[in-house]
Amino acid sequence: MQTRATCPYCGVGCGVLIEHDGERITGVRGDPAHPANFGRLCTKGSTLHLTARPQTRLLYPELRRTRGEPRQRVGWDEAIATAANRFAEVINTHGPDAVAFYISGQLLTEDYYVFNKAMKGLIGSNNVDTNSRLCMSSAVAAYKQTLGADAPPCAYEDFDHADCILIAGANPAYAHPVAFRRIEDARKARPHMKLIVVDPRRTDTAASADLHLAILPGTDIWLYNAMLHVLLREGLVDAAFIAAHTEGFDALRTHVDTITPAVAAGACGVAEADIVTAARWWGQSPAALSLWCQGLNQSTHGTHNGAALIALSLATGKIGKPGCGPFSLTGQPNAMGGREVGGLANLLSAHRDLANPAHREEVARLWGVDSVPATPGLTAVELFQAVREGRIKALWIACTNPAQSMPELERVREALQCCDFVVLQEAFRSTETAAFADLMLPAATWGEKEGTVTNSERRVSHVRRALPPPAEARPDWRIVCDFARALGPLIGKPHAAHMFAYDGVEAIFAEHVASTAGRDLDITGLDYALLDSAGPQQWPLTAAMRAAGEVGRGRLYADGHFPTASGRARFVVPVQASTAEQVDARYPLHLTTGRLRDQWHGMSRTGKVARLYSHVDEARIDLNPADLQAYGVHSGELLRVSSRRGELVLRAHASEEVGRGQAFVAMHWGRNVLDSGGINVLVGGDVDPFSRQPELKHSAIAIERAELP
Ligand code: SF4
Repeated sequence: MQTRATCPYCGVGCGVLIEHDGERITGVRGDPAHPANFGRLCTKGSTLHLTARPQTRLLYPELRRTRGEPRQRVGWDEAIATAANRFAEVINTHGPDAVAFYISGQLLTEDYYVFNKAMKGLIGSNNVDTNSRLCMSSAVAAYKQTLGADAPPCAYEDFDHADCILIAGANPAYAHPVAFRRIEDARKARPHMKLIVVDPRRTDTAASADLHLAILPGTDIWLYNAMLHVLLREGLVDAAFIAAHTEGFDALRTHVDTITPAVAAGACGVAEADIVTAARWWGQSPAALSLWCQGLNQSTHGTHNGAALIALSLATGKIGKPGCGPFSLTGQPNAMGGREVGGLANLLSAHRDLANPAHREEVARLWGVDSVPATPGLTAVELFQAVREGRIKALWIACTNPAQSMPELERVREALQCCDFVVLQEAFRSTETAAFADLMLPAATWGEKEGTVTNSERRVSHVRRALPPPAEARPDWRIVCDFARALGPLIGKPHAAHMFAYDGVEAIFAEHVASTAGRDLDITGLDYALLDSAGPQQWPLTAAMRAAGEVGRGRLYADGHFPTASGRARFVVPVQASTAEQVDARYPLHLTTGRLRDQWHGMSRTGKVARLYSHVDEARIDLNPADLQAYGVHSGELLRVSSRRGELVLRAHASEEVGRGQAFVAMHWGRNVLDSGGINVLVGGDVDPFSRQPELKHSAIAIERAELP
């Protein structure tokens, strides 16, 4: 038997066919009919069936009755009643802002929707944030500042029409492999196409480029501003487009006037001529597309990194046309869906803004509640600080592993240790965060859940369930609804029973769809039946479009109208900043972090598949061979790696991919493979002022030979 679903790893959102015999998942194939991948899968996606093993799963609710003692198996009724009572106790004593949800871009849209509604509509706090804060929030802020809405304007099909693709701070060869295969195909079909890659490391993506700009970490804005300087100097901007469809260009033009390629070359550590070449390739190509991901986002100036890159599209009028536009690659499978339902501390349903009183009223009306609170919720880094300081006393974590993935890891672990009550809703039983949970709730996972996801190109797919969840595991949306209905009467909100009386997951989707009417992401033309009959659809797809027989819109802004107050796209003058942390005599090396080809996030799933270790089989630190020689260290020796926050022991690995004075460690390795802790014990928690996204990409470190025991 075969069941259609999507891959639960990266934001490419590949369609999969789950093969099963009604009791066990026996295989997985790429779905030839899915427009994201047309049947292709990468190493991670093609081994998904090997992750469906009951022995790795959390199968029953478990409750720790006394701190310090092990959790005991309990029934669902007791688990839900305990969670509701403990949350009610905190809310009634300390107020609604003393509780929080920390959720995940791997939840389905319907799960996200009810989590958001439970916190903002029922409990009366905006303390719901997500691991997408660590991933895409700078791209969101950059889109909103420049284009007016959180809406990636392109489609994967645009790769086939581009004459120049600029990949910035991303390694899609590893992190978005099927999208990269599509780029490779497009290059074969269009041999004149230029591929420019901006990355401090010579990644596999960079190695395949026509031009690799190996900039120093944190210097992106210098580069894009200098490219704009060249475009202006050589008459390669589109003055008519700028005049008709944008605002704020004069200020940016003045700003970049002094940022010559020579100036930027000094700041970025690349050749002046290469900056000129990149600008010319971009400006002279009829169609040019930029792609970016965490290298730009995970920075204390991530929003302005994105805005400076988007300015290249706007200044040359390369947006809203085939093969053109700025295109953020989403890290997680459903970070987009989470944004669509407003499942972050500063957002509301259907891309409404929490700061807008009219939007709060609309959402309150949609949910049938008196009001939605105006005070912004705590974003990820702030949230765990508040837990550590005792301001958050009850925390509900779903489908994510903050005890491994958050920056300033030791502080996050301290926070979890001192929190009065921690609930963990999770499919896998042995994540780092599980050690801190007072109550663990077994969740259904890939192959066992129904709902929808939205991929990087705004395409909504219907994810279907192949098998029921094992033992007592339940779908995430159902756990949240059961909790909300139990909590409501305890906090004086008996209408919770009505608010969360869904007879199935499709009813949640229908409510979400209704909330999008008239919004930029209007999907009032969508329902499960259409997704099943016509296949995955990009948004918007309004009821009127459906009635007219149209499909979802592949490309936005073709009419030159942008969803800003003036209808014009905006140029942003960026802050010319560097990394949050500077290297110095004590911590002289730049550490960057990133992904391996065959692992995903904290390895809860991929770490269970033996063959996925054949590419890289242990945690290691990559250093330039010349630096290793200068330190008198050989490849393979153990190094003590320290930052201002902590230290780790890692094996040295000589790599020409890494520049002099730099180091690279993959983000995946956690405490379960590193006695001294996970990678993020090294990484700081400084955040971007607009997006509140932390600078996970860079830390200053020192290395020394580790003493052998
Ligand atoms: Fe899954 Fe991404 Fe690989 Fe596609 S490219 S199979 S979505 S990990």
